[in-house]
Amino acid sequence: MSSFRFESIENVDAHSKMQINSYNGRKVTAIFGSNVFTGAALRQYLTDEAYKSLTKSIQGGTKIERKMAEQIAAGMKTWAEERGATHFSHWFQPLTGTTAEKHDSFFTLKSDGTAIETFEGDALIQQEPDASSFPNGGIRATFEARGYTAWDPASPAFIIETAQGKTLCIPTIFIAYNGESLDYKAPLLKSIEVLDKAAVDVCHYFDKNVSKVTATLGWEQEYFVIDESIANARPDIVMCGRTLIGHTPAKGQQLEDHYFGSIPERVFAFMQDFEQESYKLGIPLRTRHNEVAPAQFECAPIFEEVNIAVDHNTLLMDVMNKVAKRHKLKVLFHEKPFAGVNGSGKHNNWSLATDTGINLLGPGKTPRTNLLFLTFFVNAIKAVHDHADLLRAAIASASNDHRLGANEAPPAIMSVFIGTYLTSVLDEIEERVNGKFSEQDEVILKLDIHKHIPELMMDNTDRNRTSPFAFTGNKFEFRAVGSSANCASSMSTLNTIMAATLKQFKVEVDAKIEKGEKKEIAILQILRDYIKASRNILFEGDNYSEAWAKEAEKRGLSNFKTTPEALEVLIKKDTLKLFTDLGIYSERELHARYEIVMEEYVKKVQIEARILGYLCTNHVLPVAIQYQNTLIENVRGLKEVGLKPSSYKAQLNLLEVVSGHIQEINDNVEAMIGERKKANKIEHARDRAFAYCNNVKTLFDKIRYHADKLELIIDDKLWPMPKYRELLFLR
Ligand code: ADP
Ligand code: MG
Repeated sequence: MSSFRFESIENVDAHSKMQINSYNGRKVTAIFGSNVFTGAALRQYLTDEAYKSLTKSIQGGTKIERKMAEQIAAGMKTWAEERGATHFSHWFQPLTGTTAEKHDSFFTLKSDGTAIETFEGDALIQQEPDASSFPNGGIRATFEARGYTAWDPASPAFIIETAQGKTLCIPTIFIAYNGESLDYKAPLLKSIEVLDKAAVDVCHYFDKNVSKVTATLGWEQEYFVIDESIANARPDIVMCGRTLIGHTPAKGQQLEDHYFGSIPERVFAFMQDFEQESYKLGIPLRTRHNEVAPAQFECAPIFEEVNIAVDHNTLLMDVMNKVAKRHKLKVLFHEKPFAGVNGSGKHNNWSLATDTGINLLGPGKTPRTNLLFLTFFVNAIKAVHDHADLLRAAIASASNDHRLGANEAPPAIMSVFIGTYLTSVLDEIEERVNGKFSEQDEVILKLDIHKHIPELMMDNTDRNRTSPFAFTGNKFEFRAVGSSANCASSMSTLNTIMAATLKQFKVEVDAKIEKGEKKEIAILQILRDYIKASRNILFEGDNYSEAWAKEAEKRGLSNFKTTPEALEVLIKKDTLKLFTDLGIYSERELHARYEIVMEEYVKKVQIEARILGYLCTNHVLPVAIQYQNTLIENVRGLKEVGLKPSSYKAQLNLLEVVSGHIQEINDNVEAMIGERKKANKIEHARDRAFAYCNNVKTLFDKIRYHADKLELIIDDKLWPMPKYRELLFLR
């Protein structure tokens, strides 16, 4: 009998009786941002000069002089030390998908051996972590294996608290010695800048006072929470973050009794706790609720400027992992931890805001502001239309492949949902703006959009939950993003394609104006052209249906079901041109990124293949054979006492079935190992990824099928690993 599983089940009871009272009755405002070097703290700890220099840099992206950096570092150190920090760390987001920190003490020795605590401007601005083991896609050969982290003043420094100590963390970008980017943040910052410029230029058609446009992001983080002990009894969860085998429980989510249900007390205590930690870090969490699947939950913040929002999301995932440990819980961010129940996503709500206080994707109240809205709205649709494959590539990962198109998540086909009302507005523009009119006011007024659009915000009920990219009143919601993803990947792509489209738009409108067309008319005409050109990407129906897959194919939309296929677009000529023209990536950087993501895909599938093989060989087959032996003994005994085979048909039958599954598992695991060995010999990352995708991963389901059948048959007492019902329903 396997004791590990039963011990872990017993632990759940003890864990759930643990009284962790994380509620301290304090208002959020009392702790919000207390561990962040921002706002009033800047005023208090910085000299006037340093304060001005830093805020100017945050607002306008200007450089901070060495001398000022010295002063800022000094203020930051005093602030951090007063709060108990002893170390500082450059905090960055390499392409491994997690965050990285390298801690250095403030403590140092002077040349005469005197011990002092110091933090100099240089240490604030730049560090050189020994970074040769971060993914770099061949950008850094070993002889030049230097990576630098460089301070991003736009994201405020913060203090990470653990029971063991406090560390001042400085958000940074991570680059190679020659400036090539090695992380998620550098391209994101570049995309924010180009989008700002392109959007401001277009805003100037309407309002010369706009001098800055920021992209905003509000993410919705879905996750599973299960007992730590049960999780630890599953090697697949420990190593891969998801179950590789396990039969669906009799009761899953079909009763829909979990969604928005009352939050289990143990999970509630965990939520309170990680929320408190998040508030101290300035993460403005607002919403929490149960999700559809058992043991699945969601939290969402108030939206923020995209750079900060990305940092806050990665920070939150880190905080949640740490806090869960205190509660003997385990958080799963994997997109599909359990087969047969819903997976987890991370909706990215995205919009654009001007420094004059206007949401550019919020319908206005007058014809003039509505034209502004329509301009950005239609440009966003055009951007997705022209670059749908890039958006697909931005969300591609081995884990998200399990979720996309799985009947509860958007398909791998990109399309845009805008609702019936806005569809009719676009129809009207396409029909009525035909180039013949001359009276601009009349045309714009005749479109009559100003009377109706604001209502849409009040009653935005016709939301299509199946769309990967939906307009939801005053923002677009990119729903295909995976729950474990770094939002920077989708956000930098979205910003970039929007910037490219707006730039092109400006060129085309300017050309018409130069030829003597009135501004508003020129804008409407180009918008009409864009609407016409983007029709294919608009879809209002059920994205989960078979019919849509067929229809999309007819429309010529891509449907890349796997990561290797989806990634190919990254190194196409048009992509290279798009990203190099805007200065987001050099060709070398894009190629490197392509290699890195392909390589990561291979590693993920490779690890899963190994664990699956191990689970079968070391867990499933031994108990299956043990059970088989019991049956054999039983049959032999029955025969010995003189019964006819017809009277132990059931046992013989069972024996045959069990033996069949054992054989199948054995053969398929062997085949999988063989394919893995072949794939490992392939030199090129691309071909290796395709081999893993088409030849190795395809055997997973076959193996799983037989293992799950055995789980149903074999004596429950023998089964070595916690079953789905224990993973999902025990609290
Ligand atoms: P859903 O119904 O999809 O679950 P929620 O209301 O939970 O939507 O989440 C909406 C998210 O959209 C929140 O995180 C919110 O902060 C964000 N959001 C709202 N307005 C904007 C905006 N202008 N820009 C970016 N995000 C926004
Ligand atoms: Mg949503």
